[in-house]
Amino acid sequence: MIDLSLSEEQELLRKTARNFAAKEIRPVAEEIERMDRTKEMPWDKVRPVYRKAAGLGFTSLLIPEEYGGQGGTCMDNVLLQEELAAVDMGIAVSYFNVTITGAVMISMGGTEEQKRAWLGELCTNDTAMLASAGSEADQAGSDSLCPYPDPKLGMRTLARRDGDEYVINGSKSAFITNAGAASHYFVMARTDLDAPPMMSTSVFYVPADTPGLTVGKLTELIGWRSAQNAEVYLDDVRVPASAELGGGGAGLGLFLFKALPFIGVGFAACHVGLARAAYEHALEYAQQRISWGVPIIKHQAIAGMLADMWVDLQAARLITWDAACAADSGDFSAMVKSPAAKTFAVDTAIRNAERSVKTLGSYGITREYQAGKLLCDAWIGYPCDGTGQMLRLHMMNFLQPQSGPPGMPGMPGMEGMPPGAMPPGMPPGMMPPGMMPPGMPPGAMPPGMPPGMMPPGMMPPGMMPPGMPPGFEGMPPGMPPGTMPTETPASPPPLPTGSDDPADLG
Ligand SMILES: Cc1cc2nc3c(=O)[nH]c(=O)nc-3n(C[C@H](O)[C@H](O)[C@H](O)COP(=O)(O)OP(=O)(O)OC[C@H]3O[C@@H](n4cnc5c(N)ncnc54)[C@H](O)[C@@H]3O)c2cc1C
Repeated sequence: MIDLSLSEEQELLRKTARNFAAKEIRPVAEEIERMDRTKEMPWDKVRPVYRKAAGLGFTSLLIPEEYGGQGGTCMDNVLLQEELAAVDMGIAVSYFNVTITGAVMISMGGTEEQKRAWLGELCTNDTAMLASAGSEADQAGSDSLCPYPDPKLGMRTLARRDGDEYVINGSKSAFITNAGAASHYFVMARTDLDAPPMMSTSVFYVPADTPGLTVGKLTELIGWRSAQNAEVYLDDVRVPASAELGGGGAGLGLFLFKALPFIGVGFAACHVGLARAAYEHALEYAQQRISWGVPIIKHQAIAGMLADMWVDLQAARLITWDAACAADSGDFSAMVKSPAAKTFAVDTAIRNAERSVKTLGSYGITREYQAGKLLCDAWIGYPCDGTGQMLRLHMMNFLQPQSGPPGMPGMPGMEGMPPGAMPPGMPPGMMPPGMMPPGMPPGAMPPGMPPGMMPPGMMPPGMMPPGMPPGFEGMPPGMPPGTMPTETPASPPPLPTGSDDPADLG
């Protein structure tokens, strides 16, 4: 039997986070909803709450204990994010999830010296906060997650080596989360515009007050009112060579293969929180609003919709917990399970928010109630960190490396292209052999790939990579790509009992 129970520490973390969100985050989020964003900055309101959260160890949750952090797991972050986002998505997903999971970039890719300095500061400075500046307008949106081999495509921000320093020039898209609030930026930049992006993209850890780094005005999103998103400009930003994370040109690999599973699962957990908030909001309203002499929950159309909301919430939580366990065990399947959890949880959050709007009737589209805010907040998750479409393509490449979308026989645009060439619209994570650094032997790992991971494109036909989801391990050797596994997945676990909260798992 699969045990889905939480440890005592995890139960305590969840309870502490739930109380914190209700007591500290809710009043601030409500104040931000009312404030004029042309005169005040959300971060100025959130900063005191963030400080308190740092004091509770939330912001250093995933930093190993030896560097002063809590030594927590991806699963711990999932519990935390669900609680914070159930109260306010903007605060949870931007300030907290970006910082907590961004630290994984350092703990997994940093040198000992970088870890001591940068992680140490994140643990001791209670307003230390991260941002990740990768995407660029019209150059590197979906394609910034795609390691296109053509040097002319993708990110244009350039880091030029100058003695013991790099000089960075470029500008980042209007969506950089925590812009103007972060204390440090992970700046993604190419070190060679004539080499494929996968080989030439580095990540630099840049303090916000570095001369030449400036931030544009806040981008007006339809939701996430409490977050800050804006353009980031880099004009002759000089950083020491020691600010480069993960070694020459390995930044994109570090981001895609090591950090992204943690970031994506935390992101999914935020949307589980929103899906729960939408369910609870609709439930409360349905119990109070009387029509035809009875609370509307007595009408079967409403009751059925509420039941569907609970079912979808439960499914989103389970897929997120499963992805968190895969990420914690360093399992290859996290490369698929994390984007799967993200897309499913975002879709669920959007669906549940929509049902919440419907349940409230006319009040669903007023500012007096939460349903409309939840819907706007949920939709922002769709493009953020890879659109649903891109993540689906990404997943198929890992599930079917031989026959997934890129290189698929007959794929438009691939006619006459040599084996291993990249098709137009290549999803993230897939690297044909031609993308390996020159001189590397066949089957060698590209920079930044986690140990034990099979190099993309090197999988023998019919073989599954280690750690694939249950049901895949029964694939007999030699079966053609795309054939269904012969074994059925294990039975689902029994529903937990004893909870007084219908939205709770355990
Ligand atoms: C709220 C928010 C916060 C963000 N925070 C950050 C951040 O902190 N740091 C950062 O660097 N970036 C950030 N981003 C940027 C984000 O990663 C990109 O917006 C995202 O990857 C989508 O890129 P795009 O907007 O350029 O869409 P486009 O790439 O222009 O895509 C447009 C449409 O075309 C589809 N499409 C594009 N290419 C393909 C293809 N090859 N195959 C199939 N379909 C395709 C897409 O699915 C989409 O439907 C954030 C975005 C949002 C909305």
